Amino acid sequence: MDSEATTPLQEVRANIARACTPSRREPDDVTLIAVSKTHPAEAIVPLLEEGQRVFGENRVQEAQGKWPALLERYPDVELHLIGQLQSNKAEDAVALFDCIHALDRPSLVKALAKAMEKLGKRVPCFIQVNVGSEEQKGGCAVEALPELLTQAREAGIPIAGLMCIPPFDIEPAPFFALLAKLAADNELSGLSMGMSGDYQTAAMLGATHVRVGTALFGERDSQH
Ligand SMILES: *Cc1c(COP(=O)(O)O)cnc(C)c1O
Repeated sequence: MDSEATTPLQEVRANIARACTPSRREPDDVTLIAVSKTHPAEAIVPLLEEGQRVFGENRVQEAQGKWPALLERYPDVELHLIGQLQSNKAEDAVALFDCIHALDRPSLVKALAKAMEKLGKRVPCFIQVNVGSEEQKGGCAVEALPELLTQAREAGIPIAGLMCIPPFDIEPAPFFALLAKLAADNELSGLSMGMSGDYQTAAMLGATHVRVGTALFGERDSQH
């Protein structure tokens, strides 16, 4: 590769910086999570070599197979669990991850609190909100958020902020704006929103964490 060519990582970073300008945010206010799910270590190493240090996976088991060896070589990596979490995997998740993005129900609050207590490790969690009120989608209902937040706080779980995956194939901006308002109403500063198709929009609307896979790694083989 000649030195003039830009890599996908440079491009995504530049796009984030551009999206920050009109809302007078600093590019550093937006953490880029490189979503490496389904991709093998060989595909991840080039990004690590380029300096990327924050990665996202959506399955505990897949991450357990892939990351321990990489973490030995790159111990300063921060790993985020971005996918739905089953309560029986809570302990494994707390052991491996630095941040969990899909806390969405009381049973998971209990399981995570218990795991954190047992391992003596407090992992910051985002509460996922079902901003589009979609039946099939994870996330707590907008109306259920205050109660869930109270439960999580009482259980001693550090709350990083709110996370959403807006409905597929429609303009995401209103949903990002809604999540930002819910966060402000509940005095939370973290906003995990925006994927390959809409991370610039999310950054303009206040995202503190964008979760970008395809734009960095290319298409995935299977639908995850
Ligand atoms: C897969 C995934 C992403 C990344 O999606 P891309 O469109 O590939 O950028 C972001 N967030 C969650 C929760 C995901 O499961």
